[in-house]
Amino acid sequence: MVNKKQIKELLNESTCSHNIEKKSSCNRAKPGATSGGCAFEGAQIALFPFADVIHLVHAPSTCQGASWETRESRTSYKGEDNTPLGYCTDINTNDIIFGGNKKLEDSIKYIIKHKNPKAIFVYETCVTAMIGDNMDSLAKRLEKKYSIPIVVVHSPGFVGGKNLGSRLGGIAILEQLIGTKEPKEIHPYGINLIGEYNVTGDMWQYTPILEKIGIKIVSTLAGDGRIENIQQAHRAKLNVIVCAKSLVTLCKKMEEKYSIPYVSVSFYGKRDTSNAIRTIVGAFKDEKLSKKAEIVIDDEERKLEKKLIPFRKILKGKKAILNTGGNKSWSIASALQDIGIEVVATSIRKATLEDIDIAKKYVPILMKVPANEQAKLIDEHKVDILLAGGRSLYTAIKKRVAFVDVNQEKKVSYGAYNGLINLAKNVCNAVNNPVFKVVGTTAPWEKTND
Ligand code: SF4
Repeated sequence: MVNKKQIKELLNESTCSHNIEKKSSCNRAKPGATSGGCAFEGAQIALFPFADVIHLVHAPSTCQGASWETRESRTSYKGEDNTPLGYCTDINTNDIIFGGNKKLEDSIKYIIKHKNPKAIFVYETCVTAMIGDNMDSLAKRLEKKYSIPIVVVHSPGFVGGKNLGSRLGGIAILEQLIGTKEPKEIHPYGINLIGEYNVTGDMWQYTPILEKIGIKIVSTLAGDGRIENIQQAHRAKLNVIVCAKSLVTLCKKMEEKYSIPYVSVSFYGKRDTSNAIRTIVGAFKDEKLSKKAEIVIDDEERKLEKKLIPFRKILKGKKAILNTGGNKSWSIASALQDIGIEVVATSIRKATLEDIDIAKKYVPILMKVPANEQAKLIDEHKVDILLAGGRSLYTAIKKRVAFVDVNQEKKVSYGAYNGLINLAKNVCNAVNNPVFKVVGTTAPWEKTND
């Protein structure tokens, strides 16, 4: 069970520079904080990419829809992908009065009998936390009886927002799974990818490059993740936080417990991808490995530049506004700059204070309330492209500027070198698409001469 002290510790992440300097919290729950996603939603998003696990939500069925299948996290798992089906105990009024443990036990037994998963993750939500179901002792008893890991994720929505939920998910994995299995051999350059969700296959854009250099991916949390691998994560030599700062607490605790250092990187754009590879390789302090990495980087950058030539001609001098969340406020901006686009403004509405500090280095205008600011900025700066989530499409239509979806609804990967080509292609297609110029105008047959 996660107690108040742990929640406080997760809220006040001491490794975040702003907490040390400004004595403020990253993610302290404020009224309305969960309107952008509650802690349960964050925990489920962080852990959902484990396709060999059944994710059982102990809640009324209404919670289930909060985060289920909201991201296109891809998996290469050969067995049955357990994520397309949503599992829920469907707590009702009777269970609230008499307790939901019986229903939870029946649900776990049903899943084991009919689905035979590699593990079961059980999510505690607002209602089941308030009625006080003892999920931990039940999970321990059934785990022993059926010999499969049953991980309880204490993530009631009322404790805070999505970022806190990711941290709670990370802590559940650390306390209940990591270190429960030993690998056959320990790789000298083994890494864990933390906070990589493999949305649209982003991870697969750079893992072959790392493997070519000689780096082994021991486990991922949780993009294309496998239970067996995360159980052995304590034998990796380095933790790599991919963009998402929310799991820094997990990495810090792994450093204390298993002496695994961590680095933080971004794989969006040419500069950041090359820097990410150098940072990872540099952590091993191996000259031979670093030399190999430089050869691979050089080769990849040359291939990329050749492929970007036709796109650069179209994108030269184009201006963009970026309205997305979290680390993408700066990482996508960096990628856009790499293909010759001037980024006029970026949204920091859902960014952590640390992300805001980084975003300042890339973009001159930071939008706190993009819904009010972006339309005005499009006019003022004669912006050509708006890159945002689906809801901003209407602003683009109204202002008749090109639009590109860069949120989780996107269908192609923008990760690493090959992803940058996809981004360049999509931006060029949008810029050349006449629909943004003619949409909202009067139809030719409705025009009159007077
Ligand atoms: S966990 Fe709580 S806040 Fe989150 S969806 Fe369920 S009831 Fe709502």
